[in-house]
Amino acid sequence: MLGVTLRKQFPIFSSHLNPRNHGNKMPPLRYLDSAATSQKPTAVINKMNEVMQSIYGPVHRGAYALSAESSRLYEYAREAVRDRYARSREVSEVIFTRGTTESLNILASGFGTKILNEKSRVVLPSAEHHANMVPWQQAVMMSDAEIAYIPLMGKESSQLTLDLEKAEKLITPNTTLVTLAHVGNVLGQVNDVAAIVKMAKKVGAWVVLDAAQSASTFFGDYFDFGVDAVVLSAHKIYGPTGIGALIAKRELLEILPPHQFGGGMISDVSLEGSRWAPIPQKFEAGSPAYVEAVGFGEAVRWLTNLNEQSGRKVAEHGKNLAQKFADEVSKVNGIKVFYPQEGASGVVSFVHEKIHAHDFSTLLDSENIAVRAGHHCAWPLIRFLSVSALIRSSFSIYNDMDDVEALLAAIKNISKNS
Ligand code: PMP
Repeated sequence: MLGVTLRKQFPIFSSHLNPRNHGNKMPPLRYLDSAATSQKPTAVINKMNEVMQSIYGPVHRGAYALSAESSRLYEYAREAVRDRYARSREVSEVIFTRGTTESLNILASGFGTKILNEKSRVVLPSAEHHANMVPWQQAVMMSDAEIAYIPLMGKESSQLTLDLEKAEKLITPNTTLVTLAHVGNVLGQVNDVAAIVKMAKKVGAWVVLDAAQSASTFFGDYFDFGVDAVVLSAHKIYGPTGIGALIAKRELLEILPPHQFGGGMISDVSLEGSRWAPIPQKFEAGSPAYVEAVGFGEAVRWLTNLNEQSGRKVAEHGKNLAQKFADEVSKVNGIKVFYPQEGASGVVSFVHEKIHAHDFSTLLDSENIAVRAGHHCAWPLIRFLSVSALIRSSFSIYNDMDDVEALLAAIKNISKNS
């Protein structure tokens, strides 16, 4: 059901173009960069094609049947996202955004600047993606608040986890907001969200959860952790780019001002002023990304079904492959692995002592193996680990042991010749 069998549902594996192959026959694509963006199943591609071909009209803007049907499908997609990630309906609402980055910017610039002042503090891990760091640095700067970072325990694999004792000290009574990723995008560590929420709630702080890296493998209700807002991107859960969600409790959304103004977000406009439409329309100015939203909803439903049909194996599939790869690659001469032992996800990052990560990934690409190399939008973490860049391999539902073996063989070959 997962792995090689599932690959048949992803057209890219039979029809992809590698711009570097210059017409030569290439080995099969080994796509090991799903932590950056995931490939798309036929179900999502077909659904988006279908609405563009036959059910395409303006959303929430027309009385005719085609418009009404498009509006219904758009709202049906919202339902899918809510059903999957935030079943506690009475307290949470789904806002469609362009993705995790936009959701975090909306929160930091709108909500952050409303609740922060010179007496308050924002706390977040120092290992966060820039998308969950830079917007908060800006919000803190604009409100004269302070910012504090929760460090990792240390640099070795066994220490790549948040230092909870330090977190407890940093989440002081003047802490107004704590924000953190569920799963780290560089190391794949699963942060102890429950423990951090407990500390934050003790001092009455709001909690934001960046679920970009866990949304493809987490099938629970994020609000069961006690968080106030959750952000994610469709393209990392087998849906399209250009759409994602900000899911938040109503009490937070009541404080958050609209970030854009125009059509679709008003209940009344006069020459003297305007009144806003109810949540969520208040936050969705302009013609919405209808086709993308439908693709997002389809991806969510498709993935939920896949998880059920596979005996709820979606999460452990990538994690098992990552574990096997991490065990083997750490034995290769010249390779240093950064792989947290506890709670690891489908991500394994590593470096070669002599070959730069960029060169290494280019060599892997010549074997048609796609991995990510660089700073992974996490400069502070990269500096902390004392490396200039990392190679990151990430394992997903369509990967299998043949990918692990191909990657290992290529790494051994490159390392042998270095
Ligand atoms: N946070 C994390 C943890 C991520 O992995 C990413 C994407 N790499 C983002 C935020 C930003 O997501 P997007 O580029 O889809 O806005």
